[in-house]
Parts: sequence; C-alpha cells; structure tokens
Amino acid sequence: MDFDLKTNEKGNLTIGGTDALELADQYKTPLYVIDEERIKYNYKRLYTAFSSYYSDFKIFYACKANTNLAVMKILENEGSGIDAVSPGEIYTSLLAGFEPSRILYTGNNVTDEELKFAVKSGVRINLDSVSQLKRLSKIPEAKGTKISFRVNPMVGAGHHDHCITGGPLSKFGIMEEEAVDVYKMAKDLGFKPIGIHTHIGSGIINPEPFMLAVRTLMDISGKVKEGADVKFDFIDFGGGIGIPYTPEERKLDIKDFAEKITTLYQDKLSEYDLGKPSMCLEPGRYLVGDASVLLTRVNTIKQSYRKFAGVDAGFNTLLRPTMYGSYHHIVLAEKPLAEPTQKIDIAGDVCESGDLFARDRSMPEVKEGDLLAILNAGAYAFSMSSQYNSRPKAAEVLVSKDVSNIIRERETFADLLTKQNVPVRLLK
Ligand SMILES: *Cc1c(COP(=O)(O)O)cnc(C)c1O
Repeated sequence: MDFDLKTNEKGNLTIGGTDALELADQYKTPLYVIDEERIKYNYKRLYTAFSSYYSDFKIFYACKANTNLAVMKILENEGSGIDAVSPGEIYTSLLAGFEPSRILYTGNNVTDEELKFAVKSGVRINLDSVSQLKRLSKIPEAKGTKISFRVNPMVGAGHHDHCITGGPLSKFGIMEEEAVDVYKMAKDLGFKPIGIHTHIGSGIINPEPFMLAVRTLMDISGKVKEGADVKFDFIDFGGGIGIPYTPEERKLDIKDFAEKITTLYQDKLSEYDLGKPSMCLEPGRYLVGDASVLLTRVNTIKQSYRKFAGVDAGFNTLLRPTMYGSYHHIVLAEKPLAEPTQKIDIAGDVCESGDLFARDRSMPEVKEGDLLAILNAGAYAFSMSSQYNSRPKAAEVLVSKDVSNIIRERETFADLLTKQNVPVRLLK
C-alpha cells in the first residue's frame, strides 16, 4: 500500500500530527482535514525532481483541485504559479497574492466579458479556439497581452472518459494540423504569442501517455517555430500526474519520470533549435490530492438486502465516487490498520441510490458512532461539493505540526438561502 497512514500511541489515525478523533470532536463531521506539510512536501518533491534536470522549470498549480485561499497561499509561498480555468479562479488567485504574470488563464468556451476580465487582470491568456483569438483581438486593451494556445494532440489519457482532455473526442484546444496557421493568424492580428500548451488528461500514473504528449507537443512546437516564426518563452505540458487511490496502485517514480521527460524535452529543443524556453507543468491532484482526508461518522448500520454502513457525508460532500466511479480508500480512524473481516457498502446521506462511497468494501467491524477517514480527498473533493439536498457544505481544517485552524467554516442553514428572493406577490 502506497499511502502514508500515521497513527499515534493510542493507535488512532493522525493527520499532520493531530489525532483524527480529536479533530472530529472539535470541529464536528463531515470534515475535510488538510495537511499543510504534505502540500509543501509534494510541491518540493516535484519541483526538485524536474529542476535538477532542467533549471528553468515552473509549476502552475491547477487550482480547480482546491481553491481554498489558505491552500493557495501555501503554494504561493512555495513559489508556485497558477493555472486558472475561470474568472473566479483568477480573482481568487490574485487575492491569494499571486502576481498576474504567474497566472495562466486557460478557459474553455469563454465569453467576451470573461476575456475582458482576464485582460484587465493582466494575466497570461492561453487560448482554446480561433473564435477566442478573434474576439480577443477586438478588445483594445488586449494588444500587449501575453498569449499562448492550447493544442489538442491526438493523444489523451486519464482515469475516466470524462477526464481525458486530448484526442479526437475532446472539446479542448486547437487541432494539431491548424497550429501553424493559428499562430500566424495571431501574429497578423498584432499579438506576440510566447507559449504553447497542452493538457491531455487527469490521473495519469504511467509515464507512457504523458511522454507521447510531450513528444507530440514538441514536434508541433518545432513546426510552429519554423512555419510561423514564433520564439517560445514557455512550453507547458499541463497537469495530470496521478496519485495512487487503491492499495494496489503504486506511486509514480517522480525522479525517473522527471528524468525521462526532461531528457526528451531537451532532445527536442535541440532537434528544432527552440532555444531554452521555460518548461511548465500544471499539477492539481499531485500537489493536494493525498494531503487531505474527509472525516465522516457512521450513524446507521443496516442489514437490508445488503449490509450498509450509513455516514453523515454524501456525494454533495465528495462527488468523485458517484461521478467517476472513483475508488477512495476508507479506514476506521480509531484503528486504521485493522484487518478486514467483512464486505459492506458504505453509503452517504443523500436521497439517491448512486450515493455510495464504496460497494462491497472489505472493512473491519464497523459500529454506529465510529469515525471513518476517506483518504486522498484533497483534490476535486471540496471544490466539487454542493448544497444538494439542502445540506450546508462541510468545514475545512488545516493542520500543521500539532496546530489546527479552520480555513473554511461549516455552512449554516442561512447559507442555503443567501441570494434567494421570494416575490412580494407570493407573500399573503
Ligand atoms: C484540470 C487541469 C489541470 C490539472 O489536472 P490534474 O489532473 O489535477 O493534475 C491542469 N491543466 C488544466 C488546463 C486543467 O484543466
């Protein structure tokens, strides 16, 4: 098993040195607990691995994985940049202290208002279509904006169809064959394109598809340099580095991965005489995925046609199992290393039968009142949560070296009603 499960002298699960049971008592459940040191460690490990082979290496945290300001601030302090996919993410990133020059905005199906907002913010804009380029060129202030294009190479990869963002079925990016013409068009419209980008998918745990994407994007970069006379300041391979979710999966050997990618990168730079552009990656999951657990309490044990353990979180809190069929490892916070004795379903509290965290999961004895820890809940977890079933969103707590701080308060019933209005004619 490639998870780092830590326990204290009582045998209880600890997160960032703090007892999970004490956190649940103090802050109530369901509760997201984020380990600050783990995020820093993930960032440093990735940064060191790549920059030791290619010094001009940059990380742009894909903040849609978790946009909590404290999480973003941790990465800002580490020196990260941001991959933002919406104006809201640009707004949040600026508030977290990221310089506009360290924010790359990669929108999809972007409106004119959104383009104007991005231009005003001074961030770099990574364009996804010819339509966007043409509309950007009509914004007078856009002239000096640093732009790049997202290219869709004919390769995709990912843990689920919904997470494959390259290849012929994907809605993202411009086509490989049109790249040269699109860069020429950008120059004709008065822009100075400085970068090229791709992002082929998410949850990639095996280097091969990623290597293929690097190879393809470098070949395209070579053609664009030749055919459109573009000098690249940066080449960005997107995110997608996976983490193990099941006990069988192994961590990607990041040093080996970095060596393979940077070698290929440098070979291709010299093959096409591309100079020394910054090499960029946009990890989301890799930085924050394993830094958080979701604590949830069992309130019901039911022997129906099957045996269920019912908990106080649901797909409104953690959508991935329902949305992607994703596996999340679940342990008893009181004895995380206990051997399984049974197979049970672990179900949430939402009124939909798809609301299951696990089907037929091997678990030790589970009783009502027990605290469960759903592991690897740091990425696409809180950020995908909702108020469905009129359930206030859970709280987020940050732990570091025995200190815990609430970084997002638990919502209240009143939060369910903000922004709603009942027309006066309905009030009798
Ligand atoms: C979602 C996304 C990422 C991050 O993906 P991960 O799998 O979390 O690393 C990076 N770049 C872009 C453009 C994205 O949309």
